[in-house]
Formats: sequence, structure tokens, C-alpha cells
Amino acid sequence: MTAYSRLLEGALIPLYYRARGRAYPLRRSFLESSQWWSSRQISDFQWQEASLLLDLAFEKVPYYQEKYKAAGIRREDIRSIGDFRQLPPLSREELNENRERLRPVGHTGKVFAHATGGSSGVPARFYVGMGSYDWRSAATARAYAWAGAATGEKTLYLWGAPIGTPSAFKRTKTDLYRLMRRELVFSTFLQTAELWQRIYESAHGFRPTAVVGYVSSLEQFCHFLIDHNLRLNEINGVIAAAEPVFAPTRELVARALGAPLFNTYGSREFMSIGAECDRHEGLHVHAENLIVETEADTNQSPSELLITDLHNDGMLFIRYRIGDVGWFSDAPCSCGRGLPLLKNVEGRTLELLRAPDGRIVPGELIPHLMKDIKEVREFQAEQKRLDLIVISVVLSGSLSEHSQTLLRSELAKAFGAGVHVEILPVESIPRRQSGKRQVTIGLQA
Ligand SMILES: [Zn+2]
Repeated sequence: MTAYSRLLEGALIPLYYRARGRAYPLRRSFLESSQWWSSRQISDFQWQEASLLLDLAFEKVPYYQEKYKAAGIRREDIRSIGDFRQLPPLSREELNENRERLRPVGHTGKVFAHATGGSSGVPARFYVGMGSYDWRSAATARAYAWAGAATGEKTLYLWGAPIGTPSAFKRTKTDLYRLMRRELVFSTFLQTAELWQRIYESAHGFRPTAVVGYVSSLEQFCHFLIDHNLRLNEINGVIAAAEPVFAPTRELVARALGAPLFNTYGSREFMSIGAECDRHEGLHVHAENLIVETEADTNQSPSELLITDLHNDGMLFIRYRIGDVGWFSDAPCSCGRGLPLLKNVEGRTLELLRAPDGRIVPGELIPHLMKDIKEVREFQAEQKRLDLIVISVVLSGSLSEHSQTLLRSELAKAFGAGVHVEILPVESIPRRQSGKRQVTIGLQA
């Protein structure tokens, strides 16, 4: 950590927050030490916080009162994390339909309204209480620090979403904030060679030691650097956000930026949910702030993730079906942190490809295959029917006979011989409204 970062994290930021009566510095230093607790200590803490949350839900939150009553569950029935698993999950539809009734009656703290995009089919609208921000921001700062991007380290951001046109006052405030934190931020929503050139020139002068970006933006920037034989020499870590990471991206980032890639998992509802440490053995869950469960009680295969926010008293998320699929690792991480380790998150349920027999085909497959097809710059696989997959490709040259045969035969191996594969050359792959790329589009209901 640089001296500037230490000054910012150790003195200036705590001063700023304390002056505003905020708990961020407390949370940040708590999370810094609790990550080294044993897994037992962490789950004890989790249960202590969950008990308070359940008291609140049963006493003050109308929707949970009704929902649990209808399920025949009383507060005194939930005495352990095992009992907790018996509570019925909360769906996104329920969240939207009962937004006000998921808030504690008489809650007087400040709350902020948020929404997620409709990338999983159903947008969500929700509230976040002020105290929850201090927890979730502290968790995010901890995750970034694992990757060498502690607050105040010079960081280049390749953000996917378009940056709107804020007022001049707001812009100045944001500029100052970024200057203080030493962040160089670009929107990479519209990706052109000119944009990458401009980003490279700014970064060359700025000399970042970390890069944070949407996976697709990182990939395109890395291709640009390699194609033009350009280097940024001081990068220690690269944080990938918002989109699934596959092995070829790690290799590309290491080659172009000379630094390891750190995968992260987060969402609008909870901010940082998990992140990799420097061992890259899985995603450490911020278990002091969130309970992350898999719906199936097994680590053998992926299943739906259910998330409980222990500290958002502005609106209670208890066993919320976030729409992602993942599974936990059986072994602890070799770094010694007691935080649970998600082996992987497969992404949105609607993005999963399936074989005609109903099997989930691993998301890794398509990028893994595409990295060997030289002519392909970008791609998207869409399952139109159980027996039809359309692969849109942006090509740098026409697709050779050899590449076409390879694609078809490998896909037939993964999906079964009865699946028809159509290869569709396109000018560009459309981004979602959020700016996120979708590598795969699953069968739509
Ligand atoms: Zn670790």
C-alpha cells in the first residue's frame, strides 16, 4: 500500500465520515480484522446478526409477518442456521409487489431508492438504509484491497454503463472525489479504436497500479494493447466486475497487462457479494454482512443462490432469490481467511445453456472454444430452442472451413449430436441497457 493510500484510508476518510456521524471507518476496520477469524467465529457472528434481523422481521415487517405465518413458522422456531434454511425464499416478484411492506413499520432512518435493470427478465426496485451503505462500502473496499486497489491507489476504471449528463455541480463534486481517491474513470459503452487509444494515452500519463473493469471492456482494451504493441508497466492487479469471467480472459489480461485478474461477484441489491484474494481459489463471501446460501444443500453441482442482507434495515432481504446460480468450495482457501468460498457463480439463470436432455452446459465452454478460433473477435451464443443454438460472431476475417468444422464438432460434443448450430456473422454484439455484455442467452420462458 502506498503512503498516500495509507493516509487516505487511515486518517482522511475516517475523519470525513466521523464528522458526518457515519460508521464506515468502524466497519472498514472491523472487516479488516474479522476476515482472519476462524470460520466458526464468523458463523457465530453471522447468527448473532441474523437473530437481530429475524426479531425485526417478525416484530415490525408486515410482509414477513404474513409470509411466515402462512408458512406456519413462528420466531421461536428459528433457533439455528439450520432452522433458518427452512424459511421460504423471497422472489424478485414478491419484492416488487410488496416493496413498502418489506420495510419495518416506524423505521425513521434515511433510505435511498434503487433499481436494477431488467437483465434477468424482471427489474427490481428496492430501498437501502444508510447504515447498510457503511457495511457494503466497507466490504467493497476490502475486496478491492485484496486485488491491490485499496482506496487511494491509482486505479483506472473501464466502466461499461453510459455515464449520463449530470449537473455541473455534481460533475465537479464527482471529479474532486475521484481526484482525491486517484481514480481515472472511462465509460466504455461505445467501444471504438479511438476510445481505446484515448484511454491508453490518459493511462500512460496517469500510471495506474490497478485496473477495474467490465470483463468485456477489459478484454477489448487488452486486445488493443496487444495489437498495437503498447504496455502499461505498473499494474499490480486487475479487477473484473459485472460479467462472468472465463479462463481465456485471465490469460489475456496477464499477457496484455502483466498482472493477475481478480474476479468479483456483486449486484445492485447488495454491492460486493464476494471476491477473489491473491490465491484465486474462489470468491470469498462477505459473510459478516451477507448470508449467501445455495438452494440445494450440496457442493456437488450449481444451484440457485439465496442472499440475506444482515444490515439493510431500510428494507429486509431474507433468503432473496437473486437469480444467479453458484456453488461453494468444500476446502477452505489457502490464504487462511475464514470467509466462506464460492467456487464459482455461473451467472443468471436465464443465461444458462442447456442440452436437450436438460443438463446445464457449463458457461465456460463457449469462450473456451472461441479462444481457439482466431477470426472471432466477439461472440454471443443464444439458445433459441433446446435443439437450436445461434452463435453471433464479430469476425476479423472470414471464417475458415477448418474453424467452422471445429466449432460445430466441439458444440456437438458438448450438447449432443441432435443440436443444430447456426453461425451468424454480425457487425457488433448489442450490449444490454446496463452496458453489460451477455455471452450466452438461455432459453426464454
Ligand atoms: Zn483466500
